[in-house]
Amino acid sequence: MRTSYLCAPAKQIFHLVYVKKPSSRTVRVLSVRDMTQKGSDMIYLDHAATTPVAPQVCNAMAPYYSGNFGNASTPYEIGVKSRAAIERARQTIADTLQVQPSEIYFTSGGTESDNWALKATMEAYRRKGNHLITTAIEHHAIGNMCNDLLKKGIEVTILPTNRDGQISPEQLERAIRKDTVLISVMCANNEIGTLQNMEALGNVAARHGVLFHTDAVQAYGQIPIDIKAWKVHMLSASSHKFYGPKGCGFLYIKKGTQPDSLIHGGGQERGKRAGTENVPGIVGMARAAQLCYETMEETIKRETYLRDHMMKQLCEEIPGAFVVGSMTQRLPGNINLCIPGVEASNLVLLLDEAGICVSAGSACSSADAKPSHVLKAVGLTDAQAYACIRMTLGRHTNAAQLQYTVRTLKHLVKMLKKG
Ligand SMILES: *Cc1c(COP(=O)(O)O)cnc(C)c1O
Repeated sequence: MRTSYLCAPAKQIFHLVYVKKPSSRTVRVLSVRDMTQKGSDMIYLDHAATTPVAPQVCNAMAPYYSGNFGNASTPYEIGVKSRAAIERARQTIADTLQVQPSEIYFTSGGTESDNWALKATMEAYRRKGNHLITTAIEHHAIGNMCNDLLKKGIEVTILPTNRDGQISPEQLERAIRKDTVLISVMCANNEIGTLQNMEALGNVAARHGVLFHTDAVQAYGQIPIDIKAWKVHMLSASSHKFYGPKGCGFLYIKKGTQPDSLIHGGGQERGKRAGTENVPGIVGMARAAQLCYETMEETIKRETYLRDHMMKQLCEEIPGAFVVGSMTQRLPGNINLCIPGVEASNLVLLLDEAGICVSAGSACSSADAKPSHVLKAVGLTDAQAYACIRMTLGRHTNAAQLQYTVRTLKHLVKMLKKG
C-alpha cells in the first residue's frame, strides 16, 4: 500500500514510489521510469467499475436540470414535459428488452434494484415460503442483502460454481424446495466476466414455478438480453455501467410478479417506488441505452477482438500469468489476470503512476482486506486472489493503449518480482 510518494519535477520521467514488498510488511522505495502518461493521456481500463457519461447523454440531460426542471407530478407545462420525458425514457428502455413500459421501474441504481428484488419479494411471498437461492459469486448488492435476510430468518442456499464461475442447472434444480420463493443469479459477473447459461437456469426455475431474478448490471447495454428465453421475472440494471449518469437504474418486473415496495412515500412509479423522479438521470440513462443498443454488435466484436489479443499477449509475455474465468463465456471487455508472486494492490498503484486505471481482483486494497469471494469461489488460493488484476475495456479503448499497458505491466511485474 502506498504511504506517500515523491513526485519528481514536472517533466522529469522519474517517480519514487513507496510500495509494500510482496509477501512482507516492509516498505521500500522503488523507482519507476518512463511513466509520464497521465491526465489527458489516461488509459482507463476499469469500465466494470463505472463508465464515462457519453457527450450525447450529457446533452440529453442538460435541459432537465435548469430550463425544464419541473417535478413530474405537477400539472403545469414544465411538469407535464418532465412526465412526458420520463415516459419516453421508459418506452425506450422497454423497447431494448422487448417488454412493456409498465414493466420498467426506475430506481437509484443497481444496488437498489437488487435489494428491491430480493427483500421485497421475500416479504411479499412469505405465505408461499421462506427460501431463497443465490450464488457464491454475486455482487455485494445481492450478497450483503442475503446476509441481512438471513438475520431476519429467511433461509438462503448459496450455489457454488465451477472453475469458470458457472452455475450448474442440475445443481440449481437439486437446491429447489417446496418453500423456495426466489432464485437470483447474476447473468454476467463483474469481477471475472463469466456469463451464465441463463436459458438453462431459467428453464429450471420455470419448471418448478419459482420466481427468477437476475442482476444484469454488467450485461445490460453490453450484450444481448433475452427476457423471454431466460424466463426472468425481474432484472436489475444500472445506468453508470453503460455510459449513463450515476445514481440511476431500473428494475424490470414482469407483469403479475408482485414484490412489495422497498421505498415508501408518494405514489411515483405506479405506487411501487416512491420519491420524486430523477428526471435528468432517467432521460440520460435512456439515451445511453439507445446508444449502446445502436452499436452493440460492432462493440462486442471490437472489444472481444482486443480482449482476446491482449489476454494472449499477457499470458505469453508474463511468466506464470493466467486468465481467471471462462475463456469463451465471458463479457467482451473483461480480463482478469492472475500474476502469481505479485501483490495486485501494489501493481494497481504503480499502474496508476503510469496513467493506467485498473482494479485489483480483491476490490479493496487495504492491507487486511479479505480476498475476493468471487476469486475464492472459482478455486483460487488466498495468495492467488491477492495477485489478480481486473482490466475492463470500453467503447474508447484502442489497440495502442493496450499495447502500452502490456509493455508497462511486463516492466512492473519484473520489477516487483525482483523486489
Ligand atoms: C455495479 C454493480 C452493482 C451496483 O450498481 P450501482 O448502480 O453502482 O449501485 C450491482 N451489481 C453488479 C454486478 C455491478 O457490477
